[in-house]
Amino acid sequence: MTEHSPLRPQQFQRAVLGWFDRHGRKDLPWQQDINPYRVWVSEIMLQQTQVTAVIPYFERFMASFPTLGRLARAPLDDVLAHWSGLGYYARARNLHKCAQTVLNEHGGEFPRDVEALAELPGIGRSTGGAIASISMGLRAPILDGNVKRVLARLHAVDGWPGQSAVAKRLWEIAERYTPERRTGDYTQAMMDLGATLCTRSKPRCGECPMADTCVARAQGNPQDYPGKKPKKEKPVRCCTMLLLECEGEIFLQQRPPTGIWGGLWCPPQLDEDDGGEDSLQEWLAVRDLYATQIQALPQLRHTFTHFHLDITPVWAQLHKVSVQVAETGGGWYKLRRLNRPRAAQELGLPAPIVKLAKQLLALQAPLLTPCTAD
Ligand code: SF4
Repeated sequence: MTEHSPLRPQQFQRAVLGWFDRHGRKDLPWQQDINPYRVWVSEIMLQQTQVTAVIPYFERFMASFPTLGRLARAPLDDVLAHWSGLGYYARARNLHKCAQTVLNEHGGEFPRDVEALAELPGIGRSTGGAIASISMGLRAPILDGNVKRVLARLHAVDGWPGQSAVAKRLWEIAERYTPERRTGDYTQAMMDLGATLCTRSKPRCGECPMADTCVARAQGNPQDYPGKKPKKEKPVRCCTMLLLECEGEIFLQQRPPTGIWGGLWCPPQLDEDDGGEDSLQEWLAVRDLYATQIQALPQLRHTFTHFHLDITPVWAQLHKVSVQVAETGGGWYKLRRLNRPRAAQELGLPAPIVKLAKQLLALQAPLLTPCTAD
């Protein structure tokens, strides 16, 4: 992890608060009549939602539930109805539960302590810090998504903030910069900076009060911070698909209704452990089939949500007399029919099978007899 210390805390606070005085938002509904209840509701609403979308919801919510007591005593369905359209309904359920906890266990007043606030349902350390600093004037750092982005860029902190070492480093930086005074304005300023200047894809560094000392800006790569969540490697499964072909027709079977490609039509498949030449010969022999030629075609990868499937297609040209494949739910299809536009939808074929049919047709073209009927 890169260690940098671009500004002393006092310089940083001066720059941030000076910017807030000139450009920060000060007329949002939750910035009026500030109290812990209003700040808390706004912070929960803003967790996954943009300011402009939150404003009408906040105003309706406050009109119906103007105090914590009114919210705690309201039926949950009523609270959920006021949340309808904001999404992430666990937030509304936690809001209701938290109001009841504050009413029953804290006499209806939010505790004046960040750790106790962070323990309440749906709050956590950053939201607890926002409530404490904005509505109680306590010195409490915050680290919501916007602030993580600003601090990660300012100090060029590598890594994904979901990793505990990265989060720890960002909390240390947040802690160091948080002032003793004007805590509410500072918290608001940091959130505003992230939301309006240091945006995810197009940071407006030219207007930023920290531009001269921002490490990511000096490196020319603010967009690389914070680091992205590492992608989990998908497992790879392998199979062999038998392209049994006889005079321009290919044998397909309907797959069982459940599992991958449920109910669609595919060539017979040998799984990972059964894909060798011997197994293939055995597969043909037990069905009394005789192949005049067997040829492996280039491997094809198909990616599902949870895994990659590496398909090894094996083209087996069957002797004319051996076309009766004793398989249930199978049939012969003209390769040319499989290559028509919309064949996948009309016949129920997975995309890789259409691709394989095209390959086979290209290889086959000189050998095919004219197709007379479907
Ligand atoms: S200089 Fe640019 S990247 Fe750095 S904190 Fe400011 S807006 Fe963000």
